[in-house]
Amino acid sequence: MHEYSIVASLIDVCEKEAKKHHAKAIERIEIALGRLSGVEPHLLQSSFDTFKEETLCEGATLVIELCDVILECEVCHERSVLKKNHFICPKCQSESVRMVGGQELHVNSIVIKEA
Ligand SMILES: [Zn+2]
Repeated sequence: MHEYSIVASLIDVCEKEAKKHHAKAIERIEIALGRLSGVEPHLLQSSFDTFKEETLCEGATLVIELCDVILECEVCHERSVLKKNHFICPKCQSESVRMVGGQELHVNSIVIKEA
C-alpha cells in the first residue's frame, strides 16, 4: 500500500530526528499534502495510527495540511487555484496551463517532545 510506505519513511525520518536530539518521543508531525498527490489523507492518517505503535511516534499526532492545486497559465502567467478539475486559465481562458502546486508531500515540521 502506497500510504504505508509513506508512513514508514515518515516514521523513519522522525526517529532519526529524535535520536539526533537525544529525545525519547515525538509529539507532533506536520505535513503538507497536495490535493493531487495521489495520497488519501484519511488513509495516511489511519496508516500512521497503526504503524506508530512501538515507535518513537507512538504518542505523536499527525497533522495533515491539504494544499490546493495551483495552475500557472503559459500565455498570461496568471496563477490560479484549480476548481472542479477545469484545467483552464480563469483570466484568458487558455488551456495552456501547467500545475505548479498540488502534488507535493513534504514534512513541514517535526515537534520533539522535551524529556
Ligand atoms: Zn491565462
